[in-house]
Amino acid sequence: MIIRRSFKFCAAHIVRNCTSKRCSSSLHGHNYVVEVFISANKLDNAGMILDFGIFKNEIADFIDGFDHGYHFWNLESQEIQKFIHQNSARYIALSHNPSAENYALLFLYFIDKIIGAMSFGNDEGEIKVLSVRVHETDHGYAEAFRSDLEDRNFTQNLSLDSIEFSPAIQEEWKDKEMMQKLKNYYTSTLAKKPFIYTRPTQQVQK
Ligand SMILES: [Zn+2]
Repeated sequence: MIIRRSFKFCAAHIVRNCTSKRCSSSLHGHNYVVEVFISANKLDNAGMILDFGIFKNEIADFIDGFDHGYHFWNLESQEIQKFIHQNSARYIALSHNPSAENYALLFLYFIDKIIGAMSFGNDEGEIKVLSVRVHETDHGYAEAFRSDLEDRNFTQNLSLDSIEFSPAIQEEWKDKEMMQKLKNYYTSTLAKKPFIYTRPTQQVQK
């Protein structure tokens, strides 16, 4: 069984090296739609794969971090990077070119990590992100699948350090330390899961 949650954000970029001249040489923006597909091997105490309310916290904040930002490949010239740092509060430096395909891989990778760092309290099953679709326009989307995370052709530049959110973006998160907590969890063998969901009141006993 699969559930789907969608998110939106607006952002600007230049997609370097692409065939389309407009995309590769001009600042432009898109109204992105991100669809996240999740499965589990059982339902929780409420009969759900994963309560949609849970998506409103770390996952929503992570995706909202991309909103109203300028996103650039961190191989852009120092001149451009310096200009953005100085003139745009919300920006993201990425370890790869900001194509729809790379966004899909990036969201899949990070949402999988975020869910892996969640401690659930309602007898949820094994929650997995199956795929993530990223729409730049009404006409097409890129979809990254879980199996793509095993393929070095897709993930060679992907790590927990793949995204540098500007300070202004992190300031607006409910949990300003969210990304640091995520990195700590996956780099320390002693760290406990940082995103904790406590057991809700069970109004009806099974
Ligand atoms: Zn574009």
